[in-house]
Amino acid sequence: MPLKILVANLGSTSFKYRLFDMAAGEKLLARGGVERIGAAESKAFVEADGVREDFTVPAKDHAVAVRLCLSQLADPKRACLKDPSELAAIGFKAVHAQNVTGVQRVDERVLKAMEAYADVAPAHNPPYIAAMRLLSRELPDIPLVAAFETGFHETIPAASKNYGIPMEWVEKYGVKRWGFHGASHRFIAGRAAELLGKPGARIVSCHLGGSSSLCAIANGQSVATSMGMSPQTGLPQNNRVGEFDVFALPVLMRSTGKSLETLLDDLAERSGLLGLSGYNDLRDIEAGAARGEARSRLALDVYVASVRHYLGAYLLLLGGADAIVFTGGIGENSVAMRQAVCANLDWFGIRLDARANDSAKGEAAIHAATSRVQVWIMPTNEEIVVARQTQTLLDTNAG
Ligand code: ADP
Repeated sequence: MPLKILVANLGSTSFKYRLFDMAAGEKLLARGGVERIGAAESKAFVEADGVREDFTVPAKDHAVAVRLCLSQLADPKRACLKDPSELAAIGFKAVHAQNVTGVQRVDERVLKAMEAYADVAPAHNPPYIAAMRLLSRELPDIPLVAAFETGFHETIPAASKNYGIPMEWVEKYGVKRWGFHGASHRFIAGRAAELLGKPGARIVSCHLGGSSSLCAIANGQSVATSMGMSPQTGLPQNNRVGEFDVFALPVLMRSTGKSLETLLDDLAERSGLLGLSGYNDLRDIEAGAARGEARSRLALDVYVASVRHYLGAYLLLLGGADAIVFTGGIGENSVAMRQAVCANLDWFGIRLDARANDSAKGEAAIHAATSRVQVWIMPTNEEIVVARQTQTLLDTNAG
């Protein structure tokens, strides 16, 4: 009996999915998605059995995009699904909800908790809530499952989880370091332990991409991470601020005359690497720096300093590391970024092999033979983590 699980990954203007048959050894049946949702012409694609088709379609919102993708999967020429009702479940890499984490069946309680934090995760929660509401209306018999990005970080000890704030804020309002990118860091924890042949390995997982975070992992569990109450904190993100002192806000409100909402929007949309350099994409920033643009150079330097700040902290916390792992679009692809992060760490026993770092493609070790700490590039697989978590929830509910 096939057990087909669709894993949905939503951005503010994108919907990406993968369809797995968990009963056939986690076989990837299809992947696809829609980009530029809301634009006059959205771009969609579907890839099944190694055949990719691209489409230009009108998709005015996420609802239209999801519906379109399901009908493409059920198209008899692909036959990935007999019809959408063949899905055992749809799993969502959900981001944040008020005092709700882990893996949850999507119901009104979960949706309300996500709505309550729409302004804490403004780029993520609104599209997820809209798509979940649509699907629960249109496909009421298919279980929707939210695997929260915060779930992997539930194991972080209190010393690393708490801000120095009145305890009432923690207890009543859930203000603490929740952490994000849980599916990615969980995947890296498992894969790195497997590759190192050491289940108790101490790992620093560096997920560097459009949004970035580091995670310290011991015995397969998160013990610290760089994102906090919201995905706007920690490392500078592509357009989100990263670490920031909230007491700059009254100064900015006075000086610019902007409201708190407008300034929060600036911090969530026009800050981070974009604010520093003027570019959203690390490739453009690297090209700008190569042309001698000072702002691009600064953005790269700030980013590297921030990654090294957390890397140093986590090496102390873990008492050294067995491996440092780079993943995400930047971690997997930027030779210069990996080189800059690992520069001059000989004293810690961390030494890259420059040639391996230059030429690595896909999963690869890039440390020198003399390095005490292994350094790896590992493409992450957040979708398979969500599919497994979704299946576990289905099994538990059935059991
Ligand atoms: P998201 O976090 O949105 O899922 P990704 O993990 O795909 O994003 O990462 C996107 C980032 O990866 C972008 O900033 C992009 O510039 C960067 N990136 C992709 N390819 C390269 C490359 N060859 N060199 C440098 N940066 C790259």
